[in-house]
Amino acid sequence: MNRKNGIVAAVCIVLILSACMFYVQLVQRSIYKESSVHLQELYGQVNETFTSLVERNWNLLRDWEPYIRDQIARGNDKNVENYIDNGRNSWGFTEFYFINSDGSCMNSQGTYGYLNFGSGFVTLIRDQENVVLDATFPSREPFTVFAVPVEKGEYKGFTYSAIAVGYEKKRMEDILSINAFDNTANCQIVYPDGRVIFAVSSEVDHPYNYFSYLEDNAQFENTGTAQIKDNLAQGKSGTARYSLKGMKYYLVYEPVGFQDWILLGITPASVVNYSINQVQWFTIMIIGFIFIMLILMAVYYILQHSRSKIKEKDEELRYRQQMFNMLVNNTSEIFVMISASDDYSVEYISPNMEKLLGIPEDELYSDIHRLNQEIPGYDWDELRKELDRLPLNETLHQSHQRLNEKTGEVRWYNETLYYLTIDGQEKLLLVMTDQTEERKRRSQLEQALDLARSATQAKSDFLANMSHDIRTPMNAVIGFAGLLERNADNPSKVRDYITKITASGQHMQSLINDILDMSRIENGKMTLNENVFSLDELLEEVDAVIQPQVMARQQIFAISSDEITQDVYIGDSARIRQILLNLLTNAVKYTPERGRIRLSVSETDRLTDDFVGLCFKVSDTGIGISEEYIDKIFDPFSRERNSTVSGIQGTGLGMSITRSLVELMGGSISAESRLGEGSVFTVSLHLRCGQAPDISQDENGESSDSLEGMNILIAEDTPMNMDIILDLLEMYGARCITAVNGREALEKFEASSPGDIHIVLMDIQMPVMNGYEASERIRNCSHPDAHIIPIIAMTANAFADDIQKCLDAGMDAHIAKPLNIVKLNKMIHEYVSLFMIRRNDPELRP
Ligand code: ADP
Repeated sequence: MNRKNGIVAAVCIVLILSACMFYVQLVQRSIYKESSVHLQELYGQVNETFTSLVERNWNLLRDWEPYIRDQIARGNDKNVENYIDNGRNSWGFTEFYFINSDGSCMNSQGTYGYLNFGSGFVTLIRDQENVVLDATFPSREPFTVFAVPVEKGEYKGFTYSAIAVGYEKKRMEDILSINAFDNTANCQIVYPDGRVIFAVSSEVDHPYNYFSYLEDNAQFENTGTAQIKDNLAQGKSGTARYSLKGMKYYLVYEPVGFQDWILLGITPASVVNYSINQVQWFTIMIIGFIFIMLILMAVYYILQHSRSKIKEKDEELRYRQQMFNMLVNNTSEIFVMISASDDYSVEYISPNMEKLLGIPEDELYSDIHRLNQEIPGYDWDELRKELDRLPLNETLHQSHQRLNEKTGEVRWYNETLYYLTIDGQEKLLLVMTDQTEERKRRSQLEQALDLARSATQAKSDFLANMSHDIRTPMNAVIGFAGLLERNADNPSKVRDYITKITASGQHMQSLINDILDMSRIENGKMTLNENVFSLDELLEEVDAVIQPQVMARQQIFAISSDEITQDVYIGDSARIRQILLNLLTNAVKYTPERGRIRLSVSETDRLTDDFVGLCFKVSDTGIGISEEYIDKIFDPFSRERNSTVSGIQGTGLGMSITRSLVELMGGSISAESRLGEGSVFTVSLHLRCGQAPDISQDENGESSDSLEGMNILIAEDTPMNMDIILDLLEMYGARCITAVNGREALEKFEASSPGDIHIVLMDIQMPVMNGYEASERIRNCSHPDAHIIPIIAMTANAFADDIQKCLDAGMDAHIAKPLNIVKLNKMIHEYVSLFMIRRNDPELRP
């Protein structure tokens, strides 16, 4: 119950209690009023009865007196006796007395006695007034005497001054009917000062003065005796209430009506209010019962409410706990709550502990040090000192490698220890966060960053080198071209310069080829063109290329292939040649003059009859490769020393291309080297065995390269390039039709008769209409040969993407500038033959 509800409940209880008290007081006040009225009526009747009884007895005595005196005077005592006896029978008094002036008395039978009248006797004899008195006779029940003074007379020798009748007190009570309250009522006739004249009472005390008695012993609730006396003096009657000896009484007071006597009616409140009290108590009990029931119901409701609240909270807690456990079970964070008191007892362990670290929870609950026992150098005393120094609400961070004792897995954890208070209790909360993946990621990122940096560096170096490497042959071309101009009439010099210009051009072309190859490799576009080849011939070709280089550097070069049993293979001989030339060119480049270079070829294994394992080893006695660099030797654009430092030209692409080609063929390559001692590169390939090709169709054993009879449409906007290609093609006997842009080519093709043009050589970047659009439009035009006319892209845009774009535009093949005329010639032959076949056989048209 919250504070607000508590206040409301307290206010309600106070209000209900106040209402009850008010009700009880109201009831008591009305009971008092009712009882007073009732008692006044009752005692009014008693008063009346008493007054009439007194007056009747006094009248009786006054009426009898003349007769008795007369009979006595006549000496008829017997008559007196009889008369009195008759009177006793009819009136009901107990005794008749003749009383003399000293208080002694004698009854009608002449028996003497003494009536103890007290002060009443004085009133009777001296004051000659009628009296009513309580009289006692020794050894007799008290009784009430009504006496009247008479003239002195004598009866049986006894002088009397008054006559009286006496009733037994009991009988008086019956007459006065004051036994209405279970004989507990008390009726006193007193003088105004309180002196008791006559009393009908069950009380043990017989006070002489009743007012004094009350003043001494009773506690009045409202009106005191002084007030009562005042009221009486004014002739008023009334009611008062007082407590006496632990009991409450009603006191009714009223003047008797003769003389100045006063009637006091005293009745115990418990008797008067008996039934009302019972009703009241019954009512109070019912109200109390209802009240208690209400309270019980309220308490029950509150209990039920709080129980359901507690249940709700419990469920919520359980739900949260389950959720927390589920979450924790699925996270890689471990939580441990430890008491921060001296014993460092474990209070909570997240349920994923055993899964992640392989430590059973119960072992940890009994000993927290179990958590760190696998950590090398774990020192509890040191840690404890740190904990002692740790301020409240501060944290302690650590990182540990932890072993999962069950799986043997080692993972990194970042561990934070929070020193905090929960509900006033000091706690240590250990949160262990698995950082393994993050660390891995970070290190991967760092590696990637390093890689990116080195790649960027490599590319910048590459650009710088390329610039240098291209400028060098370019310089030679321009320089020798200038010399050629000036020495045009000197044939030996002309030949020399042309040779040098050609070599420089070839060098530049090989640089560009490398870059193109790299681009194809990086785009996954590198493909192999398998053919049947002779290994011997291939080695001869390689030798032919390398020999001039080694001779120029006075190196010794040898090829050994003695143990080779299989000569003819099926494979991409051009790429194998490229691999060997790359390795050998490097060997030549990185071996000082007079060094030795060797290429050895051996058969390693024969997987099946069809496949032979070949191992190519290129070794040199050159400068060697450092241990750090050898792992990166096959990375693109990487060089151990750049050209400026080494003075050796290169792009850093050769090895990377070599490895990619080897891997494309399903082989492997490795490098071993020692600085200053030389290097060995080993290439392992498995090649399919092939058959030696038939002798050529040509009578001379060679295929013809003549282009005679072929009509070639050439689209080229650059006049110089057009001149070169025209000269080259016309040199081989071709008839050329020229167009300076794509539109012109399209128009010329559309205007041509079917079969008139045999092939189109299409430059790409041209004004008015480029090669792509021109090709697309040729393919879509209405010319009968539109779909079969071979279109070969002839462009300096030679990257993989460029080739693809050409094919997408509907072209059949691509040849890069600068043009390799031999290659171009071959292509023209190939595609023109195809065109002829398709023209003649409509079924072969696409
Ligand atoms: P480059 O065009 O620089 O020769 P490569 O990819 O062919 O590029 O070779 C990468 C690097 O490997 C060379 O720059 C050189 O440092 C080293 N290298 C290759 N072959 C040899 C070799 N035979 N001897 C020493 N170093 C070599």
